[in-house]
This record gives sequence, C-alpha cells and structure tokens, in this order.
Amino acid sequence: MYQLTDNHGRAINYLRLAVTDRCNLRCFYCMPEEGIDYLPKPHLLSFEEMERIVRVLVGMGINKVRITGGEPFVRRGIMEFIEKISRIEGLNQINITTNGVLTAPLVPDLKRLGVKSVNLSLDTLDRQRFFEVTRRDEFERVMQTFDAVLEHGLDLKINAVVMAGKNAQDIIPLAELTRHQKVSVRFIEEMPFNGAGANQYDELWSYPKILAALKIHFPTLQKLPDPPNSTAYNYFVPGFKGTIGIIAAYSRTFCGTCNRIRLTPQGVFKTCLYDEGVFNLRDMVRTGMSDDSLRSNIANVLRLRAKDGFEAEARRTSHITESMTTIGG
Ligand code: SAM
Ligand code: SF4
Repeated sequence: MYQLTDNHGRAINYLRLAVTDRCNLRCFYCMPEEGIDYLPKPHLLSFEEMERIVRVLVGMGINKVRITGGEPFVRRGIMEFIEKISRIEGLNQINITTNGVLTAPLVPDLKRLGVKSVNLSLDTLDRQRFFEVTRRDEFERVMQTFDAVLEHGLDLKINAVVMAGKNAQDIIPLAELTRHQKVSVRFIEEMPFNGAGANQYDELWSYPKILAALKIHFPTLQKLPDPPNSTAYNYFVPGFKGTIGIIAAYSRTFCGTCNRIRLTPQGVFKTCLYDEGVFNLRDMVRTGMSDDSLRSNIANVLRLRAKDGFEAEARRTSHITESMTTIGG
C-alpha cells in the first residue's frame, strides 16, 4: 500500500481537518473579543468536497483524522459528515477536538460512529475564570460533556492552554482531575495564533516551567514513555487513574517525528501548523482536478516540507496574525 512520506523520511498518516472557522466561544488565546471576519459560506469547503479529499488522502496512507475547527459542532451536517467518513475503508481512527458547549447530547452518537477519543478544551475548573478566558458563560455545558464522554467510555483528553496572568493557578486543580478520573490532562504552551499576532512571551509558561509547578505539588510525578509521534510529554502520579501531559507547542521540541498534515476550512493545505499553507485544495477540486492530479500535487509538496516549525515559520512571507480557529490547532 502507498504511504505518503515527506522529504525527511517521516511517514504521514494523520490529517487534522478543520471543518469550520466559526465558534461559539471567544477564547482569549485564540480569537479577539470581537471575533474574526468569518469566511463567507461559499469559501468554505463543502462536506462533499471534504469527503472527497479525505478519501484521496486515505488512499495515500492517512489512517487517522481529527475533526477540529473552529468549533466542529456549530456546523450543520457535521454528524452526517462524520458518519460518511466513518465508512471509508482504511480510515481507522476518527477523533474530535471540541470546546464541549454543544457536545454532550451527541456523545452517544459519536460513540456509535466509532469515534475513539475526544479532546475537550478546558482551561480552568473555576466558573468565573472560565468566563474570563472564553468570554462566554458556558462552563456547565462543557462539564456535562466532560461527564458524558467518561460515562460513554470514550477516551477523554483535556486541553488546557497555560497563560501567564490568566489561569496558571488552575494547573494543579486540573491535574488533580487525574487522581480519580481516567482522563489525560494536557497543558499546552500558548502559541501566537490569537488573531492579533504575538503576545509578550517573556512570561511564557514553557514545558519546564509547567513541569516544575507540577513537581512541587506532586513530588512523586513520574515520566511515561512517549508514544511514537506524540506531541505530549506524558507523566503520571503513582496511584492516580489518569495521566498528565505537557505539549511544548511554542518551543516545538516534538517536530522531529511529526506525522501530520492540516486542512483549513477554506481548503488550505498545511504541512506544518506554523506555515502559511502550501496550496489551496478547494481551488484544485473546484477546477475539476482528477484524483490522480490531487495525489501528485500532495505528494510533491510533501517533498518540500520544512523540517520543523521554526523552519516553517522562517519561510513565511508575513508574520503570524491568524487565529487558531481558522487553522484548527
Ligand atoms: N473549538 C475546539 C476547541 O476549542 O477544542 C477546536 C478548535 S481549537 C482551535 C483546537 C485547540 O487549539 C484547542 O485545544 C485550543 O486550546 C488550542 N488553541 C487555540 N489557540 C491556541 C493558542 N494560541 N495556543 C495554544 N493552543 C491554542
Ligand atoms: Fe473557539 Fe476552540 Fe478557539 Fe476557543 S479555542 S475560541 S473554543 S476555536
């Protein structure tokens, strides 16, 4: 079977598919308070176009897709789309990243469709701080999703971006969730994808800084082996049910084994989170390009892939100003 590979010998088997740029929260680190200019609907890939692209990519060795956004569940028709791609032979794993506002009632269907794991964004367990971070009062509905995912036996990962002056005090309460719950709580370094460019990163909550805070509270914290292609460095506290991860998304120490590509809601194909996008698959699809030509364009561009996020960023022609909601995280 064909396996898409990049110019650094890395097998590419994982697609992160952002199905919309719309969102019902306004997370401080992701979007400005007033929101962003959403793309006009015709600029978004239709679900039919996405399904075709997923099929093409699965034929090239992609066997794992993460549905992200924006908030995936604000797009009408998303469950039907997941159902369709769940039938694609060779696509072994569909995972979801969600803010959890609309997700709880859908969890039984996600399970039925074979979704294996849900990444839930949750930066604090304090309702008031949740409001300050997300600028919306939706803490309760998010916690309902937390409960529903565990109740239905899907793998649950919590994604918490750690921000100086915002939620550093939440690191320990979030990590404490692993004491009694089979959940993986992952702390993410903040990246400059907030729709306005870089913050001051002098105070970055880096991987070593987060780890040091954890070790003070959990002196018995132990390192777990890193699964292949993992972006998280994983730890556990002996006797606890869950695990704790740290994702060095800004320090970019995990790029060496990167197996992922990205597709934005408007069809921009990205070979790195930090690149500007290498071409637009929507335009190729809409000009009637054959599957064979799509495949050869994709294979060719992977031969020019940056070795890491620093090289990808250095190749950009403009500074980062995009919001994560238009990329998919
Ligand atoms: N709306 C969904 C959610 O929040 O889970 C999916 C999309 S969101 C863009 C995907 C992930 O990106 C979330 O876990 C979020 O915490 C993370 N993210 C967004 N902006 C970020 C930033 N500036 N730095 C680090 N992570 C960020
Ligand atoms: Fe929306 Fe997710 Fe961005 Fe928060 S992180 S604003 S929930 S897309």
